[in-house]
Amino acid sequence: MLQFEENVTTHGSGAPASGMQLGSDVAPASSETTTAPEFRRVTAADKRVINGQTDVNQLVPFKYKWAWEKYLSACANHWMPQEIQMSRDIALWKDPNGLTDDERRVIKRNLGFFVTADSLAANNIVLGTYRHITAPECRQYLLRQAFEEAIHTHAYQYIVESLGLDEGEIFNAYHEISSIRDKDEFLIPFIDTLTDPAFKTGTLENDQQLLKSLIVFACIMEGLFFYVGFVQILAFGRQNKMTGAAEQYQYILRDESMHCNFGIDLINQIKLENPQLWTAEFREEIEGLMRKAVDLEYRYAEDTMPRGVLGLNAPMFKEYLRYIANRRCQQIGLDPMFEGAANPFPWMSEMTDLKKERNFFETRVIEYQTGGALSWD
Ligand code: FE
Repeated sequence: MLQFEENVTTHGSGAPASGMQLGSDVAPASSETTTAPEFRRVTAADKRVINGQTDVNQLVPFKYKWAWEKYLSACANHWMPQEIQMSRDIALWKDPNGLTDDERRVIKRNLGFFVTADSLAANNIVLGTYRHITAPECRQYLLRQAFEEAIHTHAYQYIVESLGLDEGEIFNAYHEISSIRDKDEFLIPFIDTLTDPAFKTGTLENDQQLLKSLIVFACIMEGLFFYVGFVQILAFGRQNKMTGAAEQYQYILRDESMHCNFGIDLINQIKLENPQLWTAEFREEIEGLMRKAVDLEYRYAEDTMPRGVLGLNAPMFKEYLRYIANRRCQQIGLDPMFEGAANPFPWMSEMTDLKKERNFFETRVIEYQTGGALSWD
């Protein structure tokens, strides 16, 4: 039920983000209307990504077009896990000679991370990030993103079920496998900050906490911790193995690339509107977190691939993770941290490009764009 705020405070820093408030103190309503004298129409100029004072229930007038466009693109990319054929994967997994022990280890530890990762992501959005963001265009994208995280958790569960894996083993890996647990333990304090019911933005310290958690979530969790896993399963697909799982991951990678890019746009917009948050000390802290995350993800690579497998080996990922970390730093306006790091997997960039009549593995014709979203060019 809608709640009217009795005293609409002046906008600007120091005001808490409110999930439900109508009206603003700016832009007078038309003189022909008969609304209460304190009512003011929303204008785009008054909207803010955090600590905004405009009505979060009014999507328009648009201010953050990048968020609205990502929402439209995400909807046009809709897919569901059960649309993907898994029969070849099932036959290969059940064939005692179908895969090596090292290949099976990769698959189990890979799913062991992902089956809970997207639930962490979904809960972080729904119970945390969403209520602190006061731009309705951004909230609209976050609603879509939350559903996509649910689809991803569904996809991982669908693979586990299709292959007949031990669900207890896979779903408890984030407690029982240290290389997975360490990644999640790194993330959880940042998720806890945003989901703490007592946490409110509006002070320098808390706004920095929010920004830090958003950076950890977009640039480290979705932007780095997913990438050893994505390369591994897509490497199976490139060898014509586990093509159903690889196709699922290809759709997930496309979604996650957009999550990461949206997060980066959000971070940069917050920086633009609140330059006081971006102190030297803050930047140093982010670099420290990035360095720690690269180490954790590298340990995960070593644990999942103790020997070379699928043409991959752990040391290749040292370079790859440094390359990705540099890219994430640059995307949010930090200097690259690892000089000269190059991308050993240039084929990964093709993997997000699904705007073709057939998908990369050519297993079936796909066209997930529906109705008015269809593009014929
Ligand atoms: Fe995501």
